[in-house]
Amino acid sequence: MSSLPFDPRRSAPARRAAWRGSLISGLLVIAIVAWDRVAEPWFWAAALIAIVAGGWLASPRAESVLPHRDSGKDARHSLAEALLANIPDPVILIDRRALVIEANAAARALLPALRPRYPLSFALRDPAVLDGIETVLHSGEPLKTLYALRVPTERTFEVQIGTMQGAPATGGQPNLVLFLRDLTSAKRLETMRVDFVANASHELRTPLASLLGFIETLQGPARGDPVARDRFLAIMREQALRMTRLIDDLLSLSRIELHAHVPPTTVIDVGPLARQIVDSLTPLAGERGVTVTLETEPPPLAVRGDRDEILRLIEKLVENAVKYGGEGATVAVRVARAAPEGVRAPQIVIAVADDGPGIAPEHLPRLTERFYRVDPASSRQQGGTGLGLAIVKHILNRHRGRLSIESEPGQGSTFRAELPAVVGESLPVRALPPATQSA
Ligand code: ADP
Repeated sequence: MSSLPFDPRRSAPARRAAWRGSLISGLLVIAIVAWDRVAEPWFWAAALIAIVAGGWLASPRAESVLPHRDSGKDARHSLAEALLANIPDPVILIDRRALVIEANAAARALLPALRPRYPLSFALRDPAVLDGIETVLHSGEPLKTLYALRVPTERTFEVQIGTMQGAPATGGQPNLVLFLRDLTSAKRLETMRVDFVANASHELRTPLASLLGFIETLQGPARGDPVARDRFLAIMREQALRMTRLIDDLLSLSRIELHAHVPPTTVIDVGPLARQIVDSLTPLAGERGVTVTLETEPPPLAVRGDRDEILRLIEKLVENAVKYGGEGATVAVRVARAAPEGVRAPQIVIAVADDGPGIAPEHLPRLTERFYRVDPASSRQQGGTGLGLAIVKHILNRHRGRLSIESEPGQGSTFRAELPAVVGESLPVRALPPATQSA
């Protein structure tokens, strides 16, 4: 049996609807009495029945599945409501006709059209989910299905549909509960992982195929040709070096990722590290007719950092400027302090500027993606792996730093890495700089 229309256990809107129905039927009765001036006892009994029936008819049907509460159960019910509200994933409770009974805040935020007592399909029209509900209703067994949202952004949810014991007032009829779990970031990560493996294999396969080709040629048609052999061996060496660079960068990236959650603790001076990199890249710059200058503010330019990673970061930026700056370019490396800005603490800035061909604006947001290159052929020709700026970004993330890139076609490029400065702490003796100024 369902509850009475004015039952206090019903929700406020349901009771209001019941009172509205009773009022209308009451007014009707009074109108008839006033018309006929009938005041027989049987008439008043019939009027009372009409009032109750009016309230009954006006009260919504889905309400009947709300659980009955007594004072003991009240506390449990509000506890359950509070629990539901605090579950961060969307949860929806529906009855056997798929009318919504209850939905938590996360579900209402995801599906704004969800309304108590209205069909679930008004808010969630996915055929897989609606079929899943049918299946669970027939089998009584829980099941999982996927729900894909296209707008406002593409999102994928795993929907777990299960039965939940109904309230005694519904004759123990089970309700259904839908738990939605957001798989969007997990899926995105999985896609990135698959793309990464595919890209890395492709990058390795190309030089490997070339190596195998030359080995076969040297074993076959070029067997007795010393000139061809020397030429091919030089190319094979270049291809092997390319594979080595790629493997080194892949290992670097995975090492940095492994420690991504461990902030560095050692205080180091960035000035001498920049000097070390500029010195080591001078021969490469000379080969390409590029001039590299270094300017550092007076020491110490202290940051909390991993020495090897900071060396690698500067190396990648300077190497890129030398590689892509072009014949006769000038690369200016500057390490300086940046004063605090608003809530931002003081920073140490490593700026690497070149006067090369620059980069078109549409490429700038993607430069730190793994294997992203503006011109893949020129990158490969320069010995690039497509991982340099991805490594720079990961190192900066671990050091709570940031990278900004300014570039315009024909106007050169400036890559600026910022790291939080350490102020008022002494440096370990090993890191104290020799007197370094401009080069
Ligand atoms: P790569 O190994 O190809 O150099 P990076 O991740 O270091 O990979 O750089 C990504 C791309 O960014 C490069 O392929 C190149 O097209 C572009 N790039 C990086 N630095 C510069 C620069 N200083 N000037 C012009 N283009 C640059």
